Amino acid sequence: MDLYLEGKVFIVTGGAKGIGAAISKTIGAEGGMVVVAGRDKNDNHTTVDEIIKMHGKAASHTIELADPEACKELVEFTIEKFSRIDGLVNNAGVNDGIGLVGGSPEKFMGSLQKNLSHYYNLAHYAFPHLKYTKGSIVNIGSKVSVTGQGNTSGYAAAKGAINALTREWAAEMLPYAIRVNAVLPAEVWTPLYENWIAKFADPAAKLKSITSKIPLENRFTKAEEIADMVVFLLSRRSAHTTGQILFVDGGYTHLDRSLT
Ligand code: NAP
Repeated sequence: MDLYLEGKVFIVTGGAKGIGAAISKTIGAEGGMVVVAGRDKNDNHTTVDEIIKMHGKAASHTIELADPEACKELVEFTIEKFSRIDGLVNNAGVNDGIGLVGGSPEKFMGSLQKNLSHYYNLAHYAFPHLKYTKGSIVNIGSKVSVTGQGNTSGYAAAKGAINALTREWAAEMLPYAIRVNAVLPAEVWTPLYENWIAKFADPAAKLKSITSKIPLENRFTKAEEIADMVVFLLSRRSAHTTGQILFVDGGYTHLDRSLT
């Protein structure tokens, strides 16, 4: 299936690692141009180099996304570099464990800044360009938005808001034919996941217990499997899909627990 990404330009936040890197590389492999936006210059360059080696087109932009002004600069950089924006992937986030008991009001707000504010800021600044191209926004959420996890109020609140904003923006963007969808992973092996599971007393036992409860093939979702759905949603092959919250999770969130 040709996704018609040739000549199209996409921003991927957190695009150098984990799920974001898989999305950046899939866009490159499908002929699109990608701005890899993350805080670590070396990580960004590594991913950009891999895309260029595959004969794709990519640029790196080093950014701390919690800074609203930096979000504006990322959009300006993309326009200077590639002259258009066809899609925005809001992907960067961190499950930072700011709990109701152990956290604080300041830490809670800090978590929203890391996980939520830049989704709005980038969509806001990219809007005039997406309007021109009738572009697409894909927000990466999390199953935590609907299941809870415990001890992660900031992350859960941000991910819940991302589901709500996906519907809200899909509605507001109808007059401009800009589509907005969300993809929600559950268990994907990435640097973020590795750091999270390392905090358990027995990470190997915890990993085994989680894996056994993933209904489809008792395995983690691959970052590339998330990327395939995201890139489909970015492309005009999904031209009549908007306001959708899609769980790419091997049935983890919704299937009957008695199956595992
Ligand atoms: P990851 O492995 O940590 O990769 C995220 C990338 O984004 C890293 O390069 C990180 O930089 C960067 N980043 C994070 N916050 C940033 C900021 N404020 N400014 C600039 N760069 C920033 O994470 P992942 O597992 O691929 O997760 C990607 C998305 O999927 C997140 O929204 C996450 O909530 C969601 N998700 C993942 C899973 C899973 O199982 N992995 C499950 C549910 C949802 P550093 O490395 O420097 O921090």
